[in-house]
Amino acid sequence: MSTAKLTIDLTALAENWRALDARTGCETAAVVKANGYGLDAARVSRALAQAGARQFFVAVAEEGAVVRKALGPGPGISVLSGHMEGDTDLIRDHDLIPMLNSVDQMLRHMENLPSRRFGVQLDTGMNRLGMEPGEWAALRDIALAQKPVLLMSHLACADDPDHPMNRQQLRSFIEVTANNNVPRSLSATGGLLLGKDYHFDLTRPGIGLYGGLPFAEAQPVVSLSLPVIQIRDVAQGETVGYGNTWTAPRPSRIATVAAGYADGLHRALASGPLDLYAGDTACPVVGRVSMDLITADVTDLPEDPGRLDILCRHQPIDTLGDAAGTIGYEILTALGGRYAREYLA
Ligand SMILES: *Cc1c(COP(=O)(O)O)cnc(C)c1O
Repeated sequence: MSTAKLTIDLTALAENWRALDARTGCETAAVVKANGYGLDAARVSRALAQAGARQFFVAVAEEGAVVRKALGPGPGISVLSGHMEGDTDLIRDHDLIPMLNSVDQMLRHMENLPSRRFGVQLDTGMNRLGMEPGEWAALRDIALAQKPVLLMSHLACADDPDHPMNRQQLRSFIEVTANNNVPRSLSATGGLLLGKDYHFDLTRPGIGLYGGLPFAEAQPVVSLSLPVIQIRDVAQGETVGYGNTWTAPRPSRIATVAAGYADGLHRALASGPLDLYAGDTACPVVGRVSMDLITADVTDLPEDPGRLDILCRHQPIDTLGDAAGTIGYEILTALGGRYAREYLA
């Protein structure tokens, strides 16, 4: 068997949701966009619903349909991209809640699904999605008369607690949503961790559920174990891999494992530092990451390993992110389709 094994701990996922929920006095949703951050939206949503989540967020309506099939009727499923042209049937058939981002989307929703639930996404300075304060001022009374179920916005810098943008967006959110009785939501994982001022009626954590920063106390959810295909001795001065980027400084033993950039283990990872783990022992990755293979220096191990771990307790998704010059989010969502996936429940 030469496929790598990706283990997804749904118990840890559920515990992360409960731990985040316990930090607030309000309702806690779960963000399951991008196929549940790459881990299978259906399985992830079911595990989170079992833990107690009643509100789910996805990026696009098609993802909402998948989550609805997994969960059945009842839980709220909100669509962050709103009500796009062509979404009407999906929104109606799967009872989705579009977060309307513009006057156009509002008109589309009123015209096509006048009696269906919706929320409004307001831009408070990130300038990515949502109505500008001016747009909202013009539309506010009409929109409120239709009883939106949520007013929401999103923080641009919440992973940095001291960033002045956080308080600036908080003030702006309070200003544009003041004086009505519609539930409000401002915070994803980062905002939730900023404290009570940022919680309002609903928080929307994503990455923290999956074991990523900025939720430093999160339990790791994914581990990835790679089978060793071959082990060889190289003499001092010999090179390893494409482009001869690594030269053995001493007589060395090199293990070749079965996974590479086609599996989401980015080629940029080799700029490292990056290790593969034999249990608790780190073995440095040497040479380039190729499409299906990675090489590591196992000289110092007392015996040849059968498998080496690239994601484990010692090397979580954010460490891998650092090695590739990116973030844990991108490591997770890039994990490929070639892995044998095991779900622990
Ligand atoms: C992705 C996203 C979230 C979840 O963010 P995390 O940082 O993963 O917790 C919440 N709200 C919006 C609008 C998002 O785009």
